Amino acid sequence: MTTSWRRLTLRARLAIMVALVFGLMLMVYALAVYLLIRDRFIAELDHRLDQELEIAERSIGRNTEGKLYWQYAHQPEGTAHHDGGKYRRNVAWLDVWLADGQLALRHQDAASVSGDAPVLPLNVAQMGLHSLELPGEVHLRLLQRQIPLAGERLVLRAALREDDFSQGLTAVFWGMVGGLPFALLMVAVGGYWLAGSGLRPISRMADGAQDIHAGRLDARLPVDNPHDEPGRLALAFNDLLARLEAAFREMRRFTADASHELRTPLTVIRSVGEVGLRQPHSAEEYRDIIGTMLEEVDRLTLLTALLLELTRTESGQVTLEHKPFDLCDLLRDAASFMGVLAEEAQVNITLDLPTHPVQVDGNWVLLRQALVNLLDNALKHSPSGATVAVACRAGDGQAEITVSDQGKGIPPEQLPHIFRRFYRADTARTREAGGFGLGLAIARQAVEAHGGGIGAESVPGKGSVFRIVLPVEVASRSYPRRFHS
Ligand code: ADP
Repeated sequence: MTTSWRRLTLRARLAIMVALVFGLMLMVYALAVYLLIRDRFIAELDHRLDQELEIAERSIGRNTEGKLYWQYAHQPEGTAHHDGGKYRRNVAWLDVWLADGQLALRHQDAASVSGDAPVLPLNVAQMGLHSLELPGEVHLRLLQRQIPLAGERLVLRAALREDDFSQGLTAVFWGMVGGLPFALLMVAVGGYWLAGSGLRPISRMADGAQDIHAGRLDARLPVDNPHDEPGRLALAFNDLLARLEAAFREMRRFTADASHELRTPLTVIRSVGEVGLRQPHSAEEYRDIIGTMLEEVDRLTLLTALLLELTRTESGQVTLEHKPFDLCDLLRDAASFMGVLAEEAQVNITLDLPTHPVQVDGNWVLLRQALVNLLDNALKHSPSGATVAVACRAGDGQAEITVSDQGKGIPPEQLPHIFRRFYRADTARTREAGGFGLGLAIARQAVEAHGGGIGAESVPGKGSVFRIVLPVEVASRSYPRRFHS
């Protein structure tokens, strides 16, 4: 049942559900109307019975012999009738009983006279209104009441046939029941049509989505109306496509850049090897050739190690170990690690750290690598005799680390790109210096893995400031992964 229901189209399911709900509502409504009509009719019957008894009560007279008789003094002239039959047309029977249980007066209609609606014997205990079902499907409504007449207590009974009303009610009932399937059919057809027009944008989206594949990520779904639900779905889907497209583009660029970077040392190794093989060389020359080849192999090893680090951290394959430590310790450690290089470059590294510990729950190795990369860049771009200043400030649940240098700075047009992988401002120079354009990308990844952010400001000719903002006590439970390409 569930499977065949699920196999139906959404349109068909909606139409069926609408028809069912509407059918149910219609049935409840019809039942309510039916009950209301029945109640109204019974109230009408009771009112008429009451009126009949009142008229009868006023019409009873007693002659000189003390016998009861019908008197019609209050009837319009010329309508008097000896048995009051015309006067009380709708009464099945009307009778008056004496206190001792003897029948004093009776009026019957034709059906009662013929026995179709037999007159019941008096039941003194049954005062008030009653519904009776007599043999032969005869339904009666009976009103029995005690009245005082000249010191005597009489019992008056009047009965009305419910049959006319029942027939009307039955007609109403079957009219409603008979109309129900037709109404349901109309609702189902209408619902099917409405669901179809409502779902049409989704069908169009499905058609559009079929044309989208990895090679055509620039395609977008049609948006008929951005304010309705299908429109919002299409917009959300298009947003997703845009993000996927950007990610794919970045991935392609990354692959192309990585291949390019790998190819250069390989080409060098190959050309140097070919030169070595082409003709005999002295031992000195062979040593040079092998030395060059080993240098390139070193570059290759470093590059593959960096690539591996980037991709492994990014894909979240490694669960980052984290423990609380003092950020000042980390900065001191990174600065002293770069001390030798700084001495070589004749650059002075200064540290301006808070006196109190700045507790961070994070991965020491990753954050240290980020700092080392920033310091390495600062040293590389600083003239001899310059100063590289490392400072740390903590407050408002954040720690801010700055690495400032007095180098040549970064042109404003390059500033937005420096954190991209393989981005090098000056390719020729930096390749000589051994940079792959991955240092800042790795630093950014490390900082973002800790829920922080990294940025740079620079005044060309004066120097650059790299700023890391880290939440203090970050990532103690889980690492917010905010890697973006
Ligand atoms: P690389 O390995 O080439 O240094 P990075 O990702 O570390 O790559 O840096 C990207 C580019 O940003 C560098 O090529 C360099 O041009 C520029 N850059 C980074 N740090 C500095 C700095 N302190 N001063 C000037 N330029 C910088």
